Amino acid sequence: MEKRIVILGGGESGAGAAVLAKKIGFDVFVSDFGSISDTYKALLNEHNIQWEEKQHTRELILNAQEVIKSPGIPNEAPIVVQVREAGIPIISEIEFAGRYTKAKMICITGSNGKTTTTSLIYHIFREAGLNVGLAGNIGRSLALQVAEGDKDYYILELSSFQLDNMYEFRANVAVLMNITPDHLDRYEHCMQNYVDAKFRILQNQEPEDAFVYWNDDPIIQVELPKHKHGKLYPFAEDKKDNLAAYTQEHKIVFTEPVAFNMEQEELSLTGKHNLYNSMAAGISANVAGIHKETIREALKTFKGVEHRLEKVASIDGVEYINDSKATNVNSCWYALQSMTTKTVLILGGKDKGNDYNEIADLVQQKCSALVFLGADNSKLHAFFDRFGLPTADARSMQECIVAARSFATQGQTVLLSPCCASFDLFKSYEDRGTQFKNEVLKIKQTTL
Ligand code: ADP
Repeated sequence: MEKRIVILGGGESGAGAAVLAKKIGFDVFVSDFGSISDTYKALLNEHNIQWEEKQHTRELILNAQEVIKSPGIPNEAPIVVQVREAGIPIISEIEFAGRYTKAKMICITGSNGKTTTTSLIYHIFREAGLNVGLAGNIGRSLALQVAEGDKDYYILELSSFQLDNMYEFRANVAVLMNITPDHLDRYEHCMQNYVDAKFRILQNQEPEDAFVYWNDDPIIQVELPKHKHGKLYPFAEDKKDNLAAYTQEHKIVFTEPVAFNMEQEELSLTGKHNLYNSMAAGISANVAGIHKETIREALKTFKGVEHRLEKVASIDGVEYINDSKATNVNSCWYALQSMTTKTVLILGGKDKGNDYNEIADLVQQKCSALVFLGADNSKLHAFFDRFGLPTADARSMQECIVAARSFATQGQTVLLSPCCASFDLFKSYEDRGTQFKNEVLKIKQTTL
């Protein structure tokens, strides 16, 4: 009998995994507790794949030999618990797809900077003319790309949730940007569980593989000796002998495998965090053998990623910046750190157990006012009111922009960098960022 594979979640990764599994010849079934979008229904139907939505039929799931789980479904979801209790192995779409491709895998994880670094590496590889795919948390499903005709390289953004269900997968280049508290609600509020998930990126590395990481991250420093890994390529701002990239006299110096440097001000992305992201991307491309001229040019021409310190408009001398993707405190820290003017900070949303002490100093130094954008702002008031800054509460983006605009004077910046997830008032961080941009652009039009 054919091996039965059941896929939980009929989104981009689930539908892609189903198509690949069907192509390999498995008996495939997709089950989604929510509704499946029309696009994915059409894809599944086109490949004669059985599916169900708005329910999980146990008899059709618990007879699987293997389950592929979407990273969005928590481990505690009742059906996942039942699958585990039935002793059925649960893997991720990336783990599954990894079995059917010989492509080199460049994998990026970390608490912050994943999407930016992943997109930047993809941009460099494309500029180098390589046959490369973008997948993981962004781009198209890895499994679908493998099913449709393989690539030579994949650049994969891996969240801790994806790494949770990866076992045999090997990252030829593993990039770990940083580890700061995030998603602790899904790791039993235990930081070590989250740290361990991130370090799964190193499992199965061979000596000829590469591990690119931020040398100054205190957690990475402590954890690294506990793990087997490929050749080390650390990066940091200040020069040290072991570093594969550092800065010196306004230059980024790349040391190995090929030594070269470039002016820091030529980087297309600004801010200290983007310096790290650019270093990690440059090293990864260097390790892959991409020519130094191509790397330099690509780091100059990268356009940036939507919702990440994205400049929206300048109105009456006030700059509006959309950093809606800053869904934890650390990313807001970097955003504030990169501000060169007084800032009206918009923050709030669904708190994931935030400790705002991390940004307290920067808020005092850089902020002229605060706008709290959330369904429940009480924790924000309890923490920030002591600083005596003008504050306002907003329950919609429209209200929020009106308040921010009333606070901001010429030469200042309005920064949406919320420290929180968006699900209390918005569909997603993209929705929050898009609404921000729309409201700002509406004002821009009335002032023209
Ligand atoms: P991720 O995919 O890990 O969420 P992004 O690249 O989407 O990361 O960036 C999210 C936010 O995190 C950005 O808006 C920025 O404020 C912040 N950020 C980006 N890169 C870094 C970094 N290397 N270190 C810390 N914060 C960063």
